[in-house]
Amino acid sequence: MKNFIFLCLLIPGSLLAQDYTKPELADKTRYENKTFYRVKDYAKNEITGKKVKNIIFLIGDGTGTSQIYSGLVGNKGNLYLKTMPYSGFSKTNSSDNLITDSAAGATAFSIGEKTYNGAIGVDKDKNPKKTLLEMADENGISTGMVATCAITHATPASFIAHQPSRKMGEEIAADFLDTDIDLFIGGGKNHFNKRKDGRNLFAELHTNGYDTVTSMGALKKAKGAKIAALLAEEQLPPYLMGRGDMLPESSKFAINKLSKNDKGFFLMIEGSQIDWGGHDNNVPYIVSEMLDFDRAIGEALKFAAKDGETLVVVTADHETGGFSINGGDLATGVVEGKFTTGSHTGVMVPVFSYGPQAERFSGIIENTDIFHIFKEVLGL
Ligand code: MG
Ligand code: ZN
Repeated sequence: MKNFIFLCLLIPGSLLAQDYTKPELADKTRYENKTFYRVKDYAKNEITGKKVKNIIFLIGDGTGTSQIYSGLVGNKGNLYLKTMPYSGFSKTNSSDNLITDSAAGATAFSIGEKTYNGAIGVDKDKNPKKTLLEMADENGISTGMVATCAITHATPASFIAHQPSRKMGEEIAADFLDTDIDLFIGGGKNHFNKRKDGRNLFAELHTNGYDTVTSMGALKKAKGAKIAALLAEEQLPPYLMGRGDMLPESSKFAINKLSKNDKGFFLMIEGSQIDWGGHDNNVPYIVSEMLDFDRAIGEALKFAAKDGETLVVVTADHETGGFSINGGDLATGVVEGKFTTGSHTGVMVPVFSYGPQAERFSGIIENTDIFHIFKEVLGL
């Protein structure tokens, strides 16, 4: 396997260099799954209470209806996502474009305002706006983020950082030290300790009381009150190239850790690379990342069904690839697909929910509505 510098054309007029390794495959149009998993229907536990103590917000980057259905076919008709009782659609347009990028898409969730493509936690006039994660932290609620990309990448960055451009990785990393986030797990270590300004933010985090770890093995043993896990220098590898169960295991770890707080928690979990499969017009990349993300959803539902005061919401920032499914077999887990673009598209994306107040995410909503409902139900 070779490393590729992959130029990612996100939207017209915006060129973004992404250095990640993508799976090299002879046939990118067809995937035959070999690793099926059983799905338990945790969500059959009906939640009758209205109080929301915890929110687990799962974002599948670039995950439209076809990406979800490719996972459903790939796992022979079963997904944890399929067990969630409520669904709706989110309109994803940004303030300056029908087709959003992941920065504006995540900032819509984090500050409740449409902003320009590339914006990280700032409004359309580049003013920093307090994010949901920061509000939760200020109210004594535990906070955390888990991603399969660099933790400084657009989606997680938008919940904690305030920068005019997603390209400012080192500035975004420094913003992690301005919020008392309890836990974050992802890649991007280079933005913390190989910086132009010479600061070693990873060491500073340690001084600030974080357990700082760089491997899954060390993460599982970490017992500190606050945890910073940077598991790759840049992006984590794709599931097809050996990432293993990092995402579902980190999600389970994060839920277990954050749920110790009586005041509740807010946890954002991102299936970051479903988007990259779309950019690469790569069906196996999409399906494998979708199934990995679904097993993280399973961890969230398992906890929420037991807890009864946890709202679980799963959605996407946008669709990627104009992906469609043109063939396949539910009996064998074969998926065949085609694409209309190597960029994002403007279609609505599904929203799934479970737990108290879950019914509020039905129908067609704006991406910004998700912020406003979260803020209201957490009493922030
Ligand atoms: Mg993302
Ligand atoms: Zn993208």
